[in-house]
Amino acid sequence: MIEIQVHPSDIRKKVRYYFFSSRQLKLMALGAVGLLIFFAWGILVAPQSYQHQVKKAKFRQELKYNQALTNTVQVLVGSLRSNAEALDANRRRLENLFYVFGVPLTSAGQGGVAFTPIPANLPSGRALPAWYDRVQEKLTLSEKLVEELEAREAFFRSITHAVPSVCPIPAGSFVVTSAFGYRINPFTGKQDFHQGLDFACPEGTPIWAAGDGTVTYAGRYPLSTSVAWWRYGNIVVIQHEKHFITIAAHLSSVAVRTGEKVKRWQKVGLTGNTGWSTRPHLHYEVRTNLAGENYAPIDPRIYILDLAWRDMDKILAQARSTQGSQFEPLPSTFRR
Ligand SMILES: [Zn+2]
Repeated sequence: MIEIQVHPSDIRKKVRYYFFSSRQLKLMALGAVGLLIFFAWGILVAPQSYQHQVKKAKFRQELKYNQALTNTVQVLVGSLRSNAEALDANRRRLENLFYVFGVPLTSAGQGGVAFTPIPANLPSGRALPAWYDRVQEKLTLSEKLVEELEAREAFFRSITHAVPSVCPIPAGSFVVTSAFGYRINPFTGKQDFHQGLDFACPEGTPIWAAGDGTVTYAGRYPLSTSVAWWRYGNIVVIQHEKHFITIAAHLSSVAVRTGEKVKRWQKVGLTGNTGWSTRPHLHYEVRTNLAGENYAPIDPRIYILDLAWRDMDKILAQARSTQGSQFEPLPSTFRR
């Protein structure tokens, strides 16, 4: 037992006595130690806790900054993407013109390499640099293509009036029923190379010259001379300058004579069902010697520049792959 006396400085006040058992003292000491530890802990931990709070605030700020950065990057990527799409469309047009004017694609370095389409979703993170490189690559290719075309500008200008560059039949009057390239022949049931484009249309639909030229053949080709060309029914063959020949086949009637000079858009005949034809349609071929071949047929869609065709990349790629295919050679009378 311990006694504690408290003597107030004012002597009129009573002296107070406190008695503590050893158990109570031990508890008090324990309490004091506990308090000490609590404060000591506070002193030790407080700076860390403070630092933690600062870090948290900094992190929040960084997060905000990153978000702003991400937004900016996305806007940039978006504009890059629309630029890339425009670039791609231009590159496609340029490649198309290369075909039209018979410029070998290999002359533009990378020309002819299949184009990897731009993905529909915005590239993010690690995919972005690779995507950017691809856009850059296309830009370089387009620049090369433009240079190539510019170098030949004078030649192009001299033949533009003759290039069979328009659709020979009114837009909206036909459905393309047989594309250019390999197909199952409806007569033989075997695979063959379709040298032109089939436009299914009502009989008697007017057709015109796709470019200025001279008619080298008009009418039915004699069976005794060539079965293959006799099968084309009534035909109008036009030589355009020195480089292009167009053939319109299965006509019901022809409106021009052999040797006649024609202008683009000039009516040359009416569609029909003559020769090897199951229903009225126009079989249309475009041939050129510009690629160094002996008037090899080329997909007419590449030449019909006044209409937009879907999957132009595919058409251009196919044109490359069908180069050198077996085709019906032109009789010498078709050429001038
Ligand atoms: Zn055909």
